[in-house]
Amino acid sequence: MEYDAIVIGGGPAGAACAARLVENGARTLVLDREDFPRLKLCAGWITPEVVDDLDMNPDDYPHRFNTFDEIVAHVKGLTFKLRNPQHSIRRYEFDNWLLQSAGAEVIHHNVKEIQTDDTGYTVDGNWKAPYIVGAAGTRCPVYRTFFRQVNPRAKELQAATFEHEFPYEWKDERCHLWFFDKGLPGYAWYVPKADGYLNCGIGGMSIKLKAKGQDIKTHWAHFIGVLRKKGFITGDDLPLDHEPKGYSYFLRGGVDTVRVGNAFITGDAVGLATRDLCEGIGPAIRSGHRAADAILNGSIYTLDDLQTHSSSYAPVRKLLDFMFVG
Ligand SMILES: Cc1cc2nc3c(=O)[nH]c(=O)nc-3n(C[C@H](O)[C@H](O)[C@H](O)COP(=O)(O)OP(=O)(O)OC[C@H]3O[C@@H](n4cnc5c(N)ncnc54)[C@H](O)[C@@H]3O)c2cc1C
Repeated sequence: MEYDAIVIGGGPAGAACAARLVENGARTLVLDREDFPRLKLCAGWITPEVVDDLDMNPDDYPHRFNTFDEIVAHVKGLTFKLRNPQHSIRRYEFDNWLLQSAGAEVIHHNVKEIQTDDTGYTVDGNWKAPYIVGAAGTRCPVYRTFFRQVNPRAKELQAATFEHEFPYEWKDERCHLWFFDKGLPGYAWYVPKADGYLNCGIGGMSIKLKAKGQDIKTHWAHFIGVLRKKGFITGDDLPLDHEPKGYSYFLRGGVDTVRVGNAFITGDAVGLATRDLCEGIGPAIRSGHRAADAILNGSIYTLDDLQTHSSSYAPVRKLLDFMFVG
């Protein structure tokens, strides 16, 4: 079967790219190894820029959407309140909504092999197009086939995470972040969702954890203790102790080559999460749009208008960048 473009991965990067391609008349196929809606490990914190980039009206969004006016940052026993409105969604709902809204053909398929010749790309011997977009996260087959050799990712930019999202009648409606607790080269989070859901998680730079002889699971156990002690979660029957899951992804800075021939990589396939708060949804969406623009208009695919950092305060940006990556 032949298309104008094939997008591998239907997360925010792939869905955003597909939406723009379809909107402009390109016959677009999205292949994803998961059947949507699917679980995606993520705190589900989105910025006002994400809402703008998607032209999203929160009032029309059909799922859980929460706005917190205040973020509470805990650093070595000190507490800072940041008045900087942000939002939370559940990725299970948000990603499915994004992909459905894109209007592309979606096929449930785990991509194994991509071949190329003068006419374009063939995926697993079945689907053909002159353009291919890699949007399949850290282990994206487009990255592995065309980019890994020319531009391997930098190990010092790899973050390890552990998290759990579950129904819970939270009492504190603010988002809380704990930085560097017990020497964690990263931070832990408590992100309430609308209508009784909660996401708790922890992330740290893999190479630094290793150098300290630590692992993310030990930090998770400590973090759960903190949440219980401070009364953020109560009761012993919560699934936090035995059901967390892990995922690893890359922060911005390691990969410069994002287009080879007519193959593009976007989102986590590049490693675009911000270097201070490890936020990747916004960069994924924007890179998906930029890849689509390049396909549609023949423009240069550049990531120049993607933020490398989340914080608007320069000292915070510099400190976190140094503590995580430097
Ligand atoms: C624990 C955790 C918490 C996070 N919290 C936040 C946060 O609060 N805010 C934020 O902005 N960012 C956060 N991030 C980062 C954010 O989740 C990612 O940067 C973002 O999901 C990247 O989007 P993507 O579309 O590139 O990749 P993904 O969302 O990972 O989508 C990739 C898709 O590709 C599919 N796929 C993979 N391999 C194949 C294959 N071989 N064939 C076909 N399909 C395939 C997958 O099934 C998936 O649907 C967090 C990450 C983690 C791990």
